[in-house]
Amino acid sequence: MPLVTSSNSTRIWNKGIAMSVFRASFQHNDTYAFREHPVLTENQRVNQELVPDMSGTSHEGIHRCDRCGDLTSKWDEPLLGVIIKKRKYDLSITYDGILISSELFRSVYTANNLSGLEFRRLPDDTQFFAIHATRAIEFDAERRKTRFIKPCQHCGRYESVVGATPVFLKAGSEVDEREFVRTDLEFGSGDEKHPLLICGKAAAKAICDAKLKGLDLIPIEENVRSKA
Ligand SMILES: [Zn+2]
Repeated sequence: MPLVTSSNSTRIWNKGIAMSVFRASFQHNDTYAFREHPVLTENQRVNQELVPDMSGTSHEGIHRCDRCGDLTSKWDEPLLGVIIKKRKYDLSITYDGILISSELFRSVYTANNLSGLEFRRLPDDTQFFAIHATRAIEFDAERRKTRFIKPCQHCGRYESVVGATPVFLKAGSEVDEREFVRTDLEFGSGDEKHPLLICGKAAAKAICDAKLKGLDLIPIEENVRSKA
């Protein structure tokens, strides 16, 4: 499967890829939105990309389930005190699954009439925005054989949801050319859980052309999209 990145956009697009829907994959910005940054050994630092350390104390006032500790208002928390550590990316993700946009991404989004994202300026780091897609489309967990691990009897959330890629979308999950959407399922473990961000072809092209830093766009092949 070809990987489209913002650095080799011209080459890829000249090959005439006919894909219509793309999944975005992000670089970590070495930031926690909901916890203190833990003190890490060199070895642990290497593993952060795969299994981020979640031993830092949770910030005060964050809404969590009393029983399992899962975030219960994740997409509505005010993100007070969040300061982005790795600041070179235009789109990036915190270890706890919050997508972060630079001013440049927001201006590319506006200039190209893209749609579907909500931008919230970080209250204590105003050069950046938290972004979230407002519309969800259905992920086909059955066909993908996604696993739902350790449900909490109290809040109904799962500790882990494993099996996001390759992406299987349910029949009728249409995405506009210029639109960003999210999957209805959130993947990962604990605080990390977040939906996949998916966009249409014109949105992908605008991002590639702008040579934005921090993300890859991976085509979602038609043959793994469920047929009606
Ligand atoms: Zn719970």
